[in-house]
Amino acid sequence: MTISASEIRQALENDEFVFFYQPKVSFLSGRISGAEALIRWCRGDGDVHVPHTFMPVAEASGMVPEITRHMFPRLLEDFQRIRGQQGQEGLAFNISGSDLDAPNLVALIRESISDGRLDAAHLELEITESTAVEENDVIARSLTGLLAAGVQLCMDDYGTGFSSLATLNRLPFSTLKMDQSFVMRLMRSPKSATLIKTSIAMAQLLGIKTVVEGIESQQVYEALLHYGCTEGQGYWISRPLPLGEYLDLLNSDRHWPASPVGMLRMAEISHSWQFKLVTDTVFTYLKQGERPDSAAELLHVDHQACALGEWYYGPGQALAGGSDFERLELPHRMMHEVCGEIFTAMGNNQGTDVLAPLLERLSERSCQMSSSLHRLETHLLLSELG
Ligand code: C2E
Ligand code: MG
Ligand code: MG
Repeated sequence: MTISASEIRQALENDEFVFFYQPKVSFLSGRISGAEALIRWCRGDGDVHVPHTFMPVAEASGMVPEITRHMFPRLLEDFQRIRGQQGQEGLAFNISGSDLDAPNLVALIRESISDGRLDAAHLELEITESTAVEENDVIARSLTGLLAAGVQLCMDDYGTGFSSLATLNRLPFSTLKMDQSFVMRLMRSPKSATLIKTSIAMAQLLGIKTVVEGIESQQVYEALLHYGCTEGQGYWISRPLPLGEYLDLLNSDRHWPASPVGMLRMAEISHSWQFKLVTDTVFTYLKQGERPDSAAELLHVDHQACALGEWYYGPGQALAGGSDFERLELPHRMMHEVCGEIFTAMGNNQGTDVLAPLLERLSERSCQMSSSLHRLETHLLLSELG
């Protein structure tokens, strides 16, 4: 069935568009951590249309900003009801390039933040790479304005565009959402699995959260559980639901499998990269005789503020009391102390005689930490087997 632009305009007048909500689940807690709002056209005859049946027509006839302007107040109303129910959930909202090309969306969002109807930190805008890569001045100004207002930015369908890395480099995304096509091939294609794993690790090193969408089976959910991604979304967890059903789901106390292993693995990756960065910095200094500008930032990080520290003193505390967990703290703190000494030694123009023993000490502490992290991971995996 072909839909015309005038039918879409009529549907807007009749208020036939609504949002369905698809939950996202935290792999760490197994609980709903937020939802993505997905537009649906509920026609008078009872048919419910998904976006691909009408959004391309709306896009071609330049109506998307009009739809967004019409739907945004509805999103805010729904948001109030969702927040009333459950507190801290985030809401993700898809926008297209044409929304950013027109000034109204930024104004609408800013207004709703300033009159208290929207808490910016809980709104995440999902844009596809192809939107984000358009180096158009108006789009760039809109994105800067939205980020300044405090909203979060998610790169949707990551991996399908041509300039993913350039776009990630250019804009401060807070979330990366892997495209469904990788997830759907996960069980059949080791290459897809590797692309997912390395993208998650890359995001971790950039300080960005990851969401995987398109989880259609328990088998895929469980495979992803230990990969280290932050959240999952897909039909196996729940299909997109009308608001009332989504609120019922929030109230139902339903939960899905959860594991601390993924986050532990990400902490381990951060740790080993930090260690390599420090040794590379010292190597460059010894070779070139100059302390790189980046050394201050790298070597003067408090042990609670590095990626491993954020995990250890944050969500990792759920493992407190276990001997391998407790055994991590001292060598980690000492690693940071040695980093401070290395920084001072480089500032005092010391040579290999002073720096080599410091690197040896750093390496010993790092080995202690790695072995505790590995043991902890093995124990956690075994305990999941029951
Ligand atoms: P998206 O943002 O990538 O949304 C994910 C799509 O995948 C949704 O389709 C969702 O229903 C579907 N999906 C979720 N889990 C699974 C799964 O396990 N298996 C499969 N096969 N599919 C799954 P939907 O709702 O049809 O939306 C399609 C696209 O339309 C969205 O892709 C988004 O780009 C766009 N869209 C949706 N709502 C809006 C909106 O309000 N404004 C704009 N500008 N675009 C929207
Ligand atoms: Mg999306
Ligand atoms: Mg997507």
